[in-house]
Amino acid sequence: MKTLRLILGDQLNIGHSWFENPGKDIVYCIFEIQQETIYVKHHIQKVLAFFLSMRNFAEALSSAGHHVIYQDLNHNDFTVPLEDRIDKLINELDIEQFEYQEPDEWRLDQQLISYCKTLSIPAKAVSTEHFYTDRHELQEFFGEKTYVMEPFYRAMRKKHNVLMADGQPVTGQWNYDQNNRNKIPKEQLIPEPLLFSRDISELHQSIKDHGLKTIGEVQNERLHWPVQRKEALKLLDYFLENLLEKFGTYQDAMTTDSWSLFHSRLSFALNIKLISPREVVDAVANAFSRRQEITISQAEGFIRQILGWREYMRGIYWAKMPDFAQMNELDHQNPLPKFYWTADTKMNCIKHAVSQTMEHAYAHHIQRLMVTGNFALLAGTHPDEVDEWYMGVYVDAIQWVEITNTRGMSQFADGGIVGTKPYVSSGSYINKMSHYCKNCHYQVKEKTGDKACPFNSLYWAFLDRHEEQLSSNPRMSLMYSVWNKMIDKSKILAQAETYLNNIDDL
Ligand code: FAD
Ligand code: SF4
Repeated sequence: MKTLRLILGDQLNIGHSWFENPGKDIVYCIFEIQQETIYVKHHIQKVLAFFLSMRNFAEALSSAGHHVIYQDLNHNDFTVPLEDRIDKLINELDIEQFEYQEPDEWRLDQQLISYCKTLSIPAKAVSTEHFYTDRHELQEFFGEKTYVMEPFYRAMRKKHNVLMADGQPVTGQWNYDQNNRNKIPKEQLIPEPLLFSRDISELHQSIKDHGLKTIGEVQNERLHWPVQRKEALKLLDYFLENLLEKFGTYQDAMTTDSWSLFHSRLSFALNIKLISPREVVDAVANAFSRRQEITISQAEGFIRQILGWREYMRGIYWAKMPDFAQMNELDHQNPLPKFYWTADTKMNCIKHAVSQTMEHAYAHHIQRLMVTGNFALLAGTHPDEVDEWYMGVYVDAIQWVEITNTRGMSQFADGGIVGTKPYVSSGSYINKMSHYCKNCHYQVKEKTGDKACPFNSLYWAFLDRHEEQLSSNPRMSLMYSVWNKMIDKSKILAQAETYLNNIDDL
């Protein structure tokens, strides 16, 4: 049967069984499509990285003998809806069967399910063969019970035999989280990140010619993200050789001296499937077993992120969508402060996190969670606005992993599905984990006064505002008992109110 197979922009898995042998009756189609560039305003580096990766993937498939139809953004049908473009190919090529890989995003999943119902030929969806778990495995694992990452992660370690010996963790301990909370000492050398240098001027010009609105910058018309499998593998090798040794130790640290510290920067390559989670996890487990300098807390700290958090977030997404995208448990209604787009703020931590986001389309986890996410939550920002920002600004942002982290982990808008308590802190946490506060306009130890760190009063005001919902949470009780003993409560609340009323001027 003559078959048309659709490949979406984040389905660039060359190891997929579809590609084992070129079939003479199989045509692959890949579209650069307006719909995907406008549902949210994306960072320019994200649009470039997606289109270039798709182009390279199409070339790799063609070179391997597959029949590929690639329609780039200069194709006449760029603005035509996905369904019509597939219809057109089905008619033109006398296609007898349509196949696609399950989209990772609920929105596209629904779109393709509805589309297939309109077809008069058979249609079939297959797995992307990328993740450790299938869409509903987490839901089946917990049933009616509350979702908690740790037991799921342990079950994944057992099931996939990762860092295990005779059914037990290889070193006798499951989790080394408590070793992974160090500040970077001034004398610690931080390797430069591995950057690729691809001239993107032609594609950049086409994007501008099409009037596509984007965010952020691209320096000297060069893109430094991996857009080919061999680049993704190089990035992994670089991580194993230069960064893994300190990954866990400085996982939560922040500094103005580096924008990626010891992080792998593999999320984009993973999310578009240039590289598989299994090969990344296996490479790290292998490094641990062969190299003395890679200790368990580095290897386990990293593997937990991929085998644990990444799969857990995907499971939550498929268990809770589409309702998840509407959740606003704390009823936050404020707009996102303007400095999230401009970095024009006196708060050094936010200034640094936002500037590097605009410059590199990247911030590491603790910057996303404890700086920008924390502040948005303390400022009572509507989760829709927070989601839109995170979905747009990061090169790795795809809804299944963006929304679960943002609306769930970071904003507690899900009321505790992802995490058991809101990730909020005063300035003291940022001071403990970073070098930001030393050069800040604000004083991290002050709660009130002109120069008081805004995180402080906003933190206590957040607790006060949500006392009814949060004070019975055992993980919050210590902070409520501190708050309830404070003598200058009204001054702190007044300070927070002044800051909230003048948020764009902070
Ligand atoms: P490393 O620190 O090197 O970690 C290795 C890998 O572990 C990452 O590449 C990633 O695949 C995985 N990982 C780590 N933490 C998480 C997590 N919490 N959830 C899922 N996977 C994880 N990640 C995205 O891929 N896309 C997003 O859009 C995204 N949005 C986020 C929004 C917020 C508010 C927060 C708090 C986190 C978000 N994350 C997102 C998770 C995490 O911050 C990024 O995966 C990580 O910073 C990517 O950089 P890295 O590859 O250098 O990660
Ligand atoms: Fe951020 Fe406050 Fe530290 Fe300034 S003092 S860098 S605002 S935490």
